[in-house]
Amino acid sequence: MLYISTRNNSEKLSGAEAIVKGLSDNGGLYVPESFPKVAMKDIENMAAMDYYERAAFIIGKYLPQFDEKTLKGYTQKAYSRFSDDPGSLVKVDENVAFLELWHGPTHAFKDIALTLLPYLMTGSKKVLGKNEKTLILVATSGDTGKAALEGFKDVEGTDVIVFYPVDGVSKLQKLQMMTQEGSNVTAYAINGNFDDAQNTVKKIFGDGIIANELAAAGYNLSSANSINWGRLVPQIVYYFSSYADLLESKQIKKGEKINFCVPSGNFGNILAGYYAMQMGLPVNKLICASNKNNVLTDFINGGSYDLNGREFFKTSSPSMDILISSNLERLVFELSGRDSSLTQKRMAELKTGGVYSITAGELVTLKSQFYAGFASEEEVKETIDSFFEEYGYIMDTHTGVAVNVYEKYAEATGDESKTVIVSTASPYKFADDVLKALGSKPGKDELSSLKKLEELTALPVPESLSCLMKMPQLHKEVIDKADAAGKVISYCKNKRMK
Ligand SMILES: *Cc1c(COP(=O)(O)O)cnc(C)c1O
Repeated sequence: MLYISTRNNSEKLSGAEAIVKGLSDNGGLYVPESFPKVAMKDIENMAAMDYYERAAFIIGKYLPQFDEKTLKGYTQKAYSRFSDDPGSLVKVDENVAFLELWHGPTHAFKDIALTLLPYLMTGSKKVLGKNEKTLILVATSGDTGKAALEGFKDVEGTDVIVFYPVDGVSKLQKLQMMTQEGSNVTAYAINGNFDDAQNTVKKIFGDGIIANELAAAGYNLSSANSINWGRLVPQIVYYFSSYADLLESKQIKKGEKINFCVPSGNFGNILAGYYAMQMGLPVNKLICASNKNNVLTDFINGGSYDLNGREFFKTSSPSMDILISSNLERLVFELSGRDSSLTQKRMAELKTGGVYSITAGELVTLKSQFYAGFASEEEVKETIDSFFEEYGYIMDTHTGVAVNVYEKYAEATGDESKTVIVSTASPYKFADDVLKALGSKPGKDELSSLKKLEELTALPVPESLSCLMKMPQLHKEVIDKADAAGKVISYCKNKRMK
């Protein structure tokens, strides 16, 4: 199993190399040369396994350089940090179940990949005999940053620097990052929005002069964003895992096609679902749910990815406030019949003119696999409130977007296939907005909001969130985009002197 870049399919490298490098030199993203197949019998067998064993089984197909025992060791250690089964399914009615992916250390679905990535990264370096230190740069709209800091804290041979938009994350997300402990991790707020943070990181990646300075300080750059293959592969697992669970509990029959509805931003989560489908998972539709930043909705409905005249909205689902959805490149590559020069051309068009389009034929294929919609701020609130009233089930704002779009889908199509709503964050991570949705006022500070939500919903507040107010704020610096590269270089030089 080798990997190729979406912008140059003659470059071939191993999974371990793809994970260590993160991003191809030509700016393309690594994808597997082909998709391994999983038979229905394999899925049935998964039902009897623990989540960590399911993960080792699926991931092993993509990373054959790790033997089964090693992978199981990694997945077991990573998922022991979860307070509950990492892929818990909660059924609310005949057709709908929530896949709660947020029982990990930072309470968002990013933990599924980022608790495991440190093992895959250090394991890959070992396989390749690499001794340089790895500096991981992260651009975050809130959840990735904290999950990367927590996943990599005190991991030997790696350092993490996170950049987040100063006013583009929730108060609680900011507190989570400012209070992060660990001798090898730091976070900066950037003046700008998420796309500014992401572009800043991409620029540092593409800068040969910076790379040389870092190499002199003993560092190689890598990424923990979902452009890294090591972020995507652990996410494929829970699509299979939830199918196995539905099968085992006899809610579906063997081979029955189901829908997944995924609240989407950088398109990493839903892309993992698409990969599961390519591997043989019986999927009817992947429902791509967006908030008011609905560039993906327009793309899937009309075939053009068009940034022109588009305003960036700050919404109550900040982890989906994204205009440049990096992982879409991987899907566009597949749609083109894996044509890397066409993909490169389209990405260049996006960079220069802010728009590219796929062909009518590609659009037909896209629409046969995906449905897309978006939810307004008002609709998200109404959805959270009415679901709590009707089912006693409380969800966060991102999951609220997904449920609203699923309702629109069910109404528009009449489709009654079983549907898994991918639930991406604990409601406590976005407590103020969830309180507002329930018709209540946010508390006077973060802690009182958490308490208030606990009283209203009877869902216990996680200790790791309620203790944040008392922790020292170690990372408080706010910087301009232009100063980010300088911060990165001085971080590495300082580390070297220690
Ligand atoms: C990151 C995130 C998303 C979006 O996932 P993508 O893989 O970027 O599409 C949705 N909800 C939450 C809570 C997130 O943290």
